[in-house]
Amino acid sequence: MDITKLIRKECEGFKPYVAGKPIETIKREMGLKSVIKLASNENPLGASKKAIEAIKENLKEIFYYPDSNSYALKKGLSEHYRLGIRNIFIGAGGDEIIELIAKLFFNKEEEIVISKHSFIRYEMAAKLMGSKAVVVAMKEGFKHDLTAMAKACTEKTKAIFVTNPNNPTGTYNTKEELCKFLKEIPLNKAGLKPIVVLDEAYFEYASLDEDYPDGLDFLKENPNLIIFRTFSKIYGLAGLRVAYGFASEEIVDYIERTRPPFNVNRLAQIGGTAAIGDKEQVTKSLKLVKEGKEYLYKEFKDLKIEYIKSAGNFILFKSFPYKGKELFDALVKEGVIIRALDEYELTDWARVTIGLSEENELFIDKLKKIFGRGKNK
Ligand SMILES: *Cc1c(COP(=O)(O)O)cnc(C)c1O
Repeated sequence: MDITKLIRKECEGFKPYVAGKPIETIKREMGLKSVIKLASNENPLGASKKAIEAIKENLKEIFYYPDSNSYALKKGLSEHYRLGIRNIFIGAGGDEIIELIAKLFFNKEEEIVISKHSFIRYEMAAKLMGSKAVVVAMKEGFKHDLTAMAKACTEKTKAIFVTNPNNPTGTYNTKEELCKFLKEIPLNKAGLKPIVVLDEAYFEYASLDEDYPDGLDFLKENPNLIIFRTFSKIYGLAGLRVAYGFASEEIVDYIERTRPPFNVNRLAQIGGTAAIGDKEQVTKSLKLVKEGKEYLYKEFKDLKIEYIKSAGNFILFKSFPYKGKELFDALVKEGVIIRALDEYELTDWARVTIGLSEENELFIDKLKKIFGRGKNK
């Protein structure tokens, strides 16, 4: 019997997500002893020490189910961000939050508006629900064209996704642009606006830029807004899978009803709670990324490699004369994992995560070696 005949039509065309390759995989495949990973925007300083401590202390408790309500984590976030506890929801990473939103809102045949070259998980979530992504071209310099995105809304539009700052381009939209955009989004015939999902996975890094908007400032006046951030990036907890969202009490209430009851595991809740506002982690990470970016910008400039200034902990750079995938392969052979971006339709570009200073230097050394010997040699 042909089991594939039982698969939902919406799922037939799916391909597995191409994640950044783990270090162990590359060591094994390439027979290399030392490999560094600058591929998935992880924090090279490691996890928040506060999170590690708290997890160690509570390790024995894992025979209990997690708190289905994530109360302690919500309370910590509520105090940190000075926001009502009923405006907060928790997910197993931003990835799950995107899916929770899709399951709650997207019907078959509806549309979401997304920007070209933005995070690809939104489109996958839409497809899973049988809805369709309408892709809007970026402005020059790889910035979301928010005006065009507002204009792309039709009667079928259920949601608009804005990644701020965007991954993989590192660009961001300013306070003024976001404010204008939220007003420009049209009402449909029923007098409703689509949901605006603001993905602020790199919020802490981007906050160094003066005109970078804090999505929370817009929550009160925009009941159609959902914001989310994650513990995966600056807090260094990517392996735990925990992220959080902010929305109106009504939206949060519905997310609470539809999510799996134990979606965020016990250690993730404990680690996240302990990590909130970990000053040492945040200060050190911001410093490392700022210095790393300055170093890499200068090296890229000297090597005449085009790059895009980033508000995140990663940089998009042109891989010319190589395709991004070719440069990825060449660097992997040298023990450096970066990210090729074919699925983002950026085949002539690559993305590198800011590493420790010695990792950044190794990356540049290998890059010089590869570019120095010329293509096809
Ligand atoms: C990393 C990332 C996320 C989510 O990461 P999780 O590990 O799932 O929390 C969401 N959006 C963007 C743009 C990201 O880069």
